[in-house]
Formats: sequence, C-alpha cells, structure tokens
Amino acid sequence: MAVDPLIELRDVNKHYGTLHVLRDIDLVVDRGEVVVVIGPSGSGKSTLCRTINRLETIDSGTITIDGRPMPDEGRALARLRAEVGMVFQSFNLFAHKTVLANVSLAQVKVRRRDKAEADRRSRELLERVGLLAHAEKYPAQLSGGQQQRVAIARALAMEPKALLFDEPTSALDPEMINEVLEVMQQLARDGMTMVVVTHEMGFARSAANRVVFMADGRIVEDRPPEEFFTAPRSERARDFLSKIL
Ligand code: ADP
Ligand code: MG
Repeated sequence: MAVDPLIELRDVNKHYGTLHVLRDIDLVVDRGEVVVVIGPSGSGKSTLCRTINRLETIDSGTITIDGRPMPDEGRALARLRAEVGMVFQSFNLFAHKTVLANVSLAQVKVRRRDKAEADRRSRELLERVGLLAHAEKYPAQLSGGQQQRVAIARALAMEPKALLFDEPTSALDPEMINEVLEVMQQLARDGMTMVVVTHEMGFARSAANRVVFMADGRIVEDRPPEEFFTAPRSERARDFLSKIL
C-alpha cells in the first residue's frame, strides 16, 4: 500500500511495432523505497526503466513523478528527467574529460550552477563514493567498478528524487561488483528512492523493500524479498529462480 508515492505507473502499455513490450504495468514506488526488478532477458526491464525516465514514449497509461505527469518534451521534460537519475550498465562517461569534469558537467549545463560550486559539490560526491583521490584522472585510468561509481556520483550531482539502475554491475568483472553494490547499499540506507534492475540477489535480499518480477512485459509478482525468494507464487518466477540461484 502506497503511503508516499514518488513514482507511479498506471496501466502503462508500450509496443515496439507488433511486440507488446510493456503490458498493463501498475507500479508505485514510495519515497525512500528500494524496488529491485528482476526477470528473464527480454521481459521488458530496461524498457520499464527507460519509460519511467521518458527515454521511451508509452502508448497508453500514465506515469507521474512526485505527483506530476511526465511532460512529452521540452524544458519541462528535461527538468523532470533530471529528477530521476539513471545509471546504466555501460557507464557512458566522457572519455576526454576528467572524473571531476564528468561529475560537474551537467550541474553547470542543466542545473546552471557556476563551475566552482559544481566542482565543490562534485568533490563531496566523489568522496562519498570513495574516489576523491581520482578526481583529476580520466575514465580510462580507472577500473570498471570505479567508473561506475563515478557514474553514480554524476547521477547524484543532479540531486535526483529517485535513481534508476539498469544492471549497473553486469558489465563488471566479479571482483568489482561489491564496491558498486556497497555504494548502492549506502544510498539505500540514506533513504534514496531507487529502482534497481539487477541479477544480484544478495543485494535484492538485503536492500530491497520489494522485488518486482517481470516476464513477457508483465509484472508477475511484486512482494517483499523474503516472501518472494522463499515462496515465489508463479511458475515463471520459480523457474527463473531455479536457473539463477
Ligand atoms: P530486458 O531489459 O528485460 O532484457 P528489454 O526491455 O531490453 O528487456 O526488451 C524487451 C523486449 O523489447 C525485447 O524483446 C527486446 O528485443 C525488445 N526491444 C527493446 N528495445 C527495442 C527497440 N528499441 N526496438 C524494438 N524492440 C526492442
Ligand atoms: Mg535490460
């Protein structure tokens, strides 16, 4: 039961041509909640994230962020999009800019902060993700795990109301996964509202308030992790869990 909804999807449908990729999606994420989204490849998890941020349009239904509908375009969209940060599997850092510049750039361009203020804030955030000592380096000089932590700092720099993570550790070597998950755990403890697509079931168990299981574009289960993992209701979820656990 939603008490303080921040992200609300009501009856959302989306097609890619003849493919019905999101089907009757109802999803409410309360402020401060961590929702982990899992499901087989192709079930629509990335599309769900992208529609929440309006990187993709929807065919029907409504999406509201903090009570306001997502605008279709223009400045209002840019503003609302900045309220929901996104962290991707591929970190998408600017290769020719320093770590500090990567975190400061959008603050100056979108948030209109002056550069000194942006850099000051960037250093605080880099400290928070354990990378202050690397501020003057270039992305290629960092490990994948470090680059992903920079991407998280960059997202935080916009002071988002919520963060979406789409398989943030899938591209990482195993030994780097935990350093990224630990940053995400800390964000969760600090009260950040998060939607996290991940196959890291340890993270889901320890950080998630709810696990949303998707299959074929539908939300099949939406329950607390301890219930979901010990007694999945659907055959699809049981089958999925048997393959990954
Ligand atoms: P997941 O993230 O769960 O693996 P996706 O949301 O990426 O799933 O994809 C869901 C389905 O939509 C897949 O069948 C995929 O091939 C298809 N799809 C994703 N993006 C596009 C696109 N831009 N155009 C056409 N089909 C797409
Ligand atoms: Mg995906």
